[in-house]
Amino acid sequence: MKYAIIIPDGCADEPQESLGGKTPLQAARTPNMDRLAQMGVVGRANNVPPGLTPASDVATLSLFGYDPSKVYTGRSPLEAAAMGIKLGGTDWAIRCNLVNVEDGLMRDFTAGHISSEEGRELIAQVNEVIGGEYDSPDLVNVKVRMEFHPGVGYRHCLVYRTSGLPAPFEDTTKTQPPHDIPDQPVADYLPSGPGGDLMRALMEHSKQVLADHPVNQQRRAAGKRPATQIWLWGQGRAPQLVPFVNLHRKHGAIISGVDLVRGVGILIGWKRLDVPGVTDYLDNDYAAQGQATLDALKSYDVVCAHVEAPDEASHEGRADEKVKALERIDEQIVGPLLEKMPYLGDWRILVSPDHRTPLRTRAHAHGAVPFVIAGTGIQSKGQATYDEVVAAASDLAFDPGHQLMRFFLG
Ligand SMILES: [Zn+2]
Repeated sequence: MKYAIIIPDGCADEPQESLGGKTPLQAARTPNMDRLAQMGVVGRANNVPPGLTPASDVATLSLFGYDPSKVYTGRSPLEAAAMGIKLGGTDWAIRCNLVNVEDGLMRDFTAGHISSEEGRELIAQVNEVIGGEYDSPDLVNVKVRMEFHPGVGYRHCLVYRTSGLPAPFEDTTKTQPPHDIPDQPVADYLPSGPGGDLMRALMEHSKQVLADHPVNQQRRAAGKRPATQIWLWGQGRAPQLVPFVNLHRKHGAIISGVDLVRGVGILIGWKRLDVPGVTDYLDNDYAAQGQATLDALKSYDVVCAHVEAPDEASHEGRADEKVKALERIDEQIVGPLLEKMPYLGDWRILVSPDHRTPLRTRAHAHGAVPFVIAGTGIQSKGQATYDEVVAAASDLAFDPGHQLMRFFLG
């Protein structure tokens, strides 16, 4: 059996006035997803346990069949995996944003959408000055190591290596995602709890390192926002995940433009496939992603195509772009798979977003998302369309959502 998973990130939504009272899924022309609904089953799954923040890290773990309330350790270790950074059992990865803070307010968590090249230069300087080996704060003759790794744009990673000893951070260490405090006073949101003082000191030190860096001088001269400091958050140790193949005897692969989602795939032992044109934005090459998914199904049992565009459209509050993204997913990814997978033998397709991203709030939300499954051995429930309303009325529901994967594969 071959299995395709298509994730329209954040597509689950609410009725929109601008769409004549329909949700984006209802408003979009999606004949292929509706065909799946008619052939198979539409249901709903809750991928974000109540105590955890709704985001792709937690929700994707659920969708892939892992219980985030047991295995989730933080965002940064997942991104670190996608960046090719190996973590020892006691090492911590910490998300390191380059941000713009002005008059004590978080003006821009992206430092003016700073480019990867600029970000790389700044992080190299931070690593040069602040990174390196230090004496352990607690133990004589023991060294700890701090490594600042450059990532994409404003998103970087601090790795704290302890040579097998406990780190100063704990699960109770509290940090703040900077995208959730726009224009707020940062003093109210600095890291606290175990190791918080160290993080605050690093953030403070970075201000001096970055202040007169040539990259920032050029940005100021060009009227762009400089990266005034680093902002540390999303910390955690490497999660302990049983490989997907050990759980299900199936080999998987993932095609995504998002490090975080690729990282989840890598950590469960899936192959990361890089496809030119697959991006983390509205400019995604849907046709290339659809073709690559189909090609990969010849070599892998399970192939996941994750599309970030609907989520980005929601964050920008653009209902029309969200509809357009869903239509292109339907036409250029779901359609070709539905048409050609049967030639590979027994097949199943699952379409499901990870989490909800309502246009109303332009932010991620808790709550169930609609899914559709069709293919070999799946009996039709006589549902007509794939959308939130049909899913809400369905008697097939998974809460917690990580149970859906066994149903899909079983
Ligand atoms: Zn999002």
